[in-house]
Amino acid sequence: MKNEPIYLAQPKLTDHDIQNVVDVLKSGMLVQGKYVKLVERRICEYTQAHNASLLSNGTATLHLALVALGIGKGDEVIVPAFSYVATANVVELVGAKPIFVDIKAGTFNINENLIEEAITPKTKAIIPVHEFGLCACMDKIMDIATKHQLFVIEDAACAIGAMYKDQQAGTFGHFGSFSFHPRKSVTSGEGGCLTTNNTQLNLKIKTLRNHGLDPQNAKIDCIEAGYNYRMTDIQAALLSGQIERLDAIISYKAELAQIYATEIQHPAIYLPQQPPKHKHTWQTYHITLKNQNERDKLINHLKINNIFVNYGAQCIPAMSYYKNKYNLAYEQWFPQAYKAYTCGLALPVHEMLQNRHIQHISSLINTFSSTQ
Ligand SMILES: *Cc1c(COP(=O)(O)O)cnc(C)c1O
Repeated sequence: MKNEPIYLAQPKLTDHDIQNVVDVLKSGMLVQGKYVKLVERRICEYTQAHNASLLSNGTATLHLALVALGIGKGDEVIVPAFSYVATANVVELVGAKPIFVDIKAGTFNINENLIEEAITPKTKAIIPVHEFGLCACMDKIMDIATKHQLFVIEDAACAIGAMYKDQQAGTFGHFGSFSFHPRKSVTSGEGGCLTTNNTQLNLKIKTLRNHGLDPQNAKIDCIEAGYNYRMTDIQAALLSGQIERLDAIISYKAELAQIYATEIQHPAIYLPQQPPKHKHTWQTYHITLKNQNERDKLINHLKINNIFVNYGAQCIPAMSYYKNKYNLAYEQWFPQAYKAYTCGLALPVHEMLQNRHIQHISSLINTFSSTQ
């Protein structure tokens, strides 16, 4: 086993997936072919969202959602202090100000009880993140948003197929944003999808992703200064079979996560929670150690054994750009985000792994002692 390297993420692509890509390459219709529309339809069927737009990546989706909602200079947007940096970067890109809110230990999602105190007259939107594939507490977040008339963009980058109270991630808010980067459950290399139940917003996204061209007019007419955020048909072809297999992919990953949950038994290691009424998609299995030193030692211990793991996400206020620009006392203001960032570790959960791999990783963790 020692010579068989294990990586944090590794997509499993079938011959069928590859054949679909070859078909596109042979057709010569590399961008505006049939697969983009087909996958958009499949994502609507799967998530029950009314509309879906495939875009070039899961940062373009968040960015375009903010642009479509007219959020910009002078506005504030609430984001969790622990996420991938893209969640906050897009707020900066439209000229608005990210207001960070701490997360909850164990679920790593925004603490909904701290959202209201972060709202000011400038607040326009909340971007809850479904971290590592677990939905944030969407009913409470939607209640707060309705009460204060705020938009909600769900950053479901890691969470396609996740559910909260029998409802799919990405269908609670005004927009649902998904990523298909290779570290997520399904991949198109680079890629993203924006879902919405609002017809007007959908039209706006379809316009903005394609240079501002009117999607309802066969004649070329530019009705907005738009972007080129289109997904190629090559990427959509790679994705189409994976979306069909999504349920099987998620249940396989859930089985692996269950093995970690029963096998890891270490007094100084805390396991991630899956609260009731949540369906987790287990993008990664995120454990927490006692302190940063132990976490870093465990990373090394696994690396020596040919297992390559890494941090799960960042405490965004601790990143140089945000720390310097907003003078944030991140350790004090966002203690749970800081702990997740400094003491957290993402373990691999993907289709290229089998039960024995998870057992192997778990036993290496169990025998790990920081004094070694
Ligand atoms: C991956 C990720 C993104 C960015 O998606 P890309 O497709 O890599 O641009 C945004 N937010 C979260 C929470 C992510 O995990």
